Amino acid sequence: MGDVSLNNGEFNHNWRCRSCRRLIGVTNGKQLEFRNAQGDNLLVRLPVIVVCRNPECNTINELRDSKQNNVGATEEGLLQP
Ligand SMILES: [Zn+2]
Repeated sequence: MGDVSLNNGEFNHNWRCRSCRRLIGVTNGKQLEFRNAQGDNLLVRLPVIVVCRNPECNTINELRDSKQNNVGATEEGLLQP
């Protein structure tokens, strides 16, 4: 509790690598929560670019604010008005 930065939407959309489908993090359409290589949970504001952690993949994945319709989940009510 006390996560005041999370009060603008639930993190209910899994964001996966576009190449290998490995789970990168979860997003609410505005922010992304993911675990970095050190195992720390990070919360970052979109847009964000993350390199896939799969050592055999290393695909660069870009996640934009869902207003820009790049998440694939913009029709699921992630956006606040
Ligand atoms: Zn990958």
